[in-house]
Amino acid sequence: MLSNLATRDVETLIHPYTNLAAFREAGPLVLERGHGVWVYDTDGRPYLEGMAGLWCTALGYSNDELVEAAREQMARLPFSHIFSGRSHDPAIELAETIKELVPVPASKVFFTSSGSEANDTQVKLAWYYNNALGRPKKKKIIGRVKGYHGVTVASASMTGLAANHADWDLPLPGFLHAACPHHYRGAHPGESEEEYSRRLADELDAMIEREGPDTVAAFIAEPVMGAGGAIVPPKGYFAAIQPVLARHDVRLIADEVICGFGRLGSWFGSETLGIQANSLSFAKALTSAYMPLGGVTVDEPLYQAMLDQSRKIGTFGHGTTYSAHPVASAVALKTIEIYKRDRIIEGAAAKAPHFLRRLEALADHPIVGEARGLGLIGGLEIVADKASKRQYEPKAGVAARCVAFAQEEGLIVRFLAGDRVAVCPPLVIREDEIDTLFDRLGTALDRTQ
Ligand code: PLP
Repeated sequence: MLSNLATRDVETLIHPYTNLAAFREAGPLVLERGHGVWVYDTDGRPYLEGMAGLWCTALGYSNDELVEAAREQMARLPFSHIFSGRSHDPAIELAETIKELVPVPASKVFFTSSGSEANDTQVKLAWYYNNALGRPKKKKIIGRVKGYHGVTVASASMTGLAANHADWDLPLPGFLHAACPHHYRGAHPGESEEEYSRRLADELDAMIEREGPDTVAAFIAEPVMGAGGAIVPPKGYFAAIQPVLARHDVRLIADEVICGFGRLGSWFGSETLGIQANSLSFAKALTSAYMPLGGVTVDEPLYQAMLDQSRKIGTFGHGTTYSAHPVASAVALKTIEIYKRDRIIEGAAAKAPHFLRRLEALADHPIVGEARGLGLIGGLEIVADKASKRQYEPKAGVAARCVAFAQEEGLIVRFLAGDRVAVCPPLVIREDEIDTLFDRLGTALDRTQ
């Protein structure tokens, strides 16, 4: 029996990423408030938010300083666009702050309102750049199987997940997908992580050669794949593929939408994994998700090409009403100030070994084939048979059941396609709360088996 609110929801709302048929029966979990790493439903029942919302509420809930930063900016200047000659101080200060933080040669910063728009912008900039350089054929974009980059037509095309392609007439032509770098599933018997990485680099090289290097513009990768299954790349992966991309003059875009701002225990996942990208996309933890804000960095060669185009053809014709929204920018500035002042990212790095120990202990569970993680992100691979790595029938929905049991135990985690369960708590989670998280997840696994 659904509550009144849940019934009204089912009658009126289309929810993103939801099985609409199943949802009509089950209805939503309606949340009312949050505090620390806890959220509360309309009956006042607490849940440990083990997914930081959607990989984003890094500072947890009800952070008064973020609320106050938003209130102050709303009272002072709730909106100004930054089109054609207009600006405002939070946008300027935030661009300066991000330029100093990012581990890529950033000449400028371009703001969006989401990760999808940031990655869509990356595609358009890669195309714009090659047009500006007189290389109109160099336009193909390579993503990876299981990579996730968003839902706009271009970012969904870069995404390598079936649900984002089937029945959407995607990917668009010119979007390719390299192999998913998942050693547990993709390596040959006896192949070491380093050998597997070298093979994936050779395969990428062959793909670019086959397509023609003069037709390939960019390669996009998350440092650790999120929505595809919390997949940590094998040792040496980025070190092996980067020279391939450089040799073919293919831009490397690091999608830091999840890993950026502390998730892997450093400011950006690129630092943890030794990625030297041409550009970064970021969103989510930039504001600890208190306001929607994303963006991309623009390196100097790209900026010079954009400048030349403006001299030749006039307006740079891209951007949205809410680009660098002042309230979102003010909240981002306060978020970064708190990350620095309270050493939140160092704290995440210090807690990571305990988090990973508790996560990896779940690999002993009879239905867990692999428990993998890095920093404060983790994934479980649910299997029917550990020895053969055989999965359950997709229809059995075993990971989904595990996540539903976790919710009954007062824990929010997320199931992902391919029978995977993801864990990604707020960075401010305490060690005793990490224990509560994994105790409850262990109980949910026991109930699932
Ligand atoms: N890129 C990555 C790595 C993501 O995880 C996501 C969202 O989860 C996106 C891009 C898309 O961001 P948004 O949902 O804000 O459009």
